[in-house]
Amino acid sequence: MSNAVAALIEALASGSVTVVDLTQPLDENTPVIELPELFAASPGVSIELISKYDDKGPAWYWNTLTMGEHTGTHFDAPIHWITGKDTPNGTTDTISPSKLVTPAVVVDVSAETAADEDYLMTPQRIQEWESEHGQIPAGTWFLMRTDWSKRQGREAFLNARDDGPHSPGFSPAAVQFLIEKRDVLGVGVETVGTDAGQAGGFDPAFPCHTLMHGAGKLGLASLTNLDQLPPTGALIIAAPLKIVNGSGSPLRVLALVSS
Ligand code: MN
Repeated sequence: MSNAVAALIEALASGSVTVVDLTQPLDENTPVIELPELFAASPGVSIELISKYDDKGPAWYWNTLTMGEHTGTHFDAPIHWITGKDTPNGTTDTISPSKLVTPAVVVDVSAETAADEDYLMTPQRIQEWESEHGQIPAGTWFLMRTDWSKRQGREAFLNARDDGPHSPGFSPAAVQFLIEKRDVLGVGVETVGTDAGQAGGFDPAFPCHTLMHGAGKLGLASLTNLDQLPPTGALIIAAPLKIVNGSGSPLRVLALVSS
């Protein structure tokens, strides 16, 4: 195409391409992952007023934000995990911008998750999807639709019990398959983190973090509206804040979709 950006601008103006917001609202109620007490916790969101058209600032309104890097809809950079700590260009400020505007595939396992809140994506399930939609191209986001984002409230979303949290994720074999056989850019999920709630007990523990980041790959957590995306053909804009040496960041994730 001679002027692909002009064509895209025209498609957006005519509505033949639409923008889907894959981002959860960010406020004091945003749930944050809970860790066993021996580890340091990430704080929840706090928003403190600096001024609002008042004595402290008569014509302007602004706030101070406090939160962990991995809060709400957020990006996981490779250096987030010890296995990825030496990844070249593996921090939020050094990841190539070309990776931040990338196609996605969406694999719908909402029915499986409704039947089993500990549902794990498997290589077999991925290949079943591929038999219908084609092989997952290298360098794409693998988005796992579970409809988990439709759960209302912190308790239902984190779904913690005496034996830890229960939420869907990936089997170690699925993670290995996506890295070694498909070379995906990374994975995106609707849950609080890319690993299943029970993944601390897997081998390896937290396979998405351990293996994906060890392979220099990325993560997106707490996505929503994946039910509005086609199985293939969505273009994802997911650009973390350019935090120097950042391990991740809250971000706005948008999808461009042909309608
Ligand atoms: Mn994270």
